[in-house]
Amino acid sequence: MQKRKIISLMVCWGILHILPVVPASARTQEPPQKMIAFTFDDGPHPKETERLLDGLAERNAKATFFVIASKIDAATTDVRTQTNIELVRRMVKEGHEVGNHTYSHCYLTQVSKEKVSYELTKASAVLESVTGVKPRYMRPPGGGSLTAPWVREIASPMITVCWSGVDTRDWECRNVPRMVEKIVKSAKDGAIVLLHDNYATSVDAALQAMDILAKQGYSFVTVDTLLSRNLGDEYELNPMRIYSAMYPGDVSKLQRKA
Ligand SMILES: [Zn+2]
Repeated sequence: MQKRKIISLMVCWGILHILPVVPASARTQEPPQKMIAFTFDDGPHPKETERLLDGLAERNAKATFFVIASKIDAATTDVRTQTNIELVRRMVKEGHEVGNHTYSHCYLTQVSKEKVSYELTKASAVLESVTGVKPRYMRPPGGGSLTAPWVREIASPMITVCWSGVDTRDWECRNVPRMVEKIVKSAKDGAIVLLHDNYATSVDAALQAMDILAKQGYSFVTVDTLLSRNLGDEYELNPMRIYSAMYPGDVSKLQRKA
């Protein structure tokens, strides 16, 4: 009996070792040709973020959410917090990226270094406690003009992400067709689109724009997938730079690995 067992084990071992080795590139799906990263700031919103997540799931689209961490801090007494926490957990579970948008939506260049450090560290700690994942990307409230090099130094190793093309100003403009037109017109392979998931009109505009862009061959990916597209084995992202896009083959903002 023992002998038969050994023989069958040897046969299994033999079969495993004569199976052809499949190269990694063939095993994993090739990255899509045209990519856009949709990003949503200032959420989560109990109703609109849920609607957006449903819409993204229907389209097999991935996105990045720059969350205000105080909205998901279990230590706060806001009645919406538990719903918000569930939404952020759902984001991670469904393959979206969750980024740091400070703890209280603080304009970082207008406060002290100590306050910047507190806002970013506290936000990362809350996000990690909710999702189990430490955020890799940070978006400063107000955008790149409010991110001095000293802010990026404090934020490091988080990577600072802004946006490209036209700002839809969706917090001000509630005209869905006009926003859809702006998004579609400024679409480019490698673009980062800025929207806010706390407005019904922004959610509608995002999903409608995606339906048009999908027909033009675009895939909707996380900021991480987009920014990693040109890294190869040689390059890495530089925490001292601001990333607003990542066009095919562009290595100008990357740094060589030490
Ligand atoms: Zn914001």
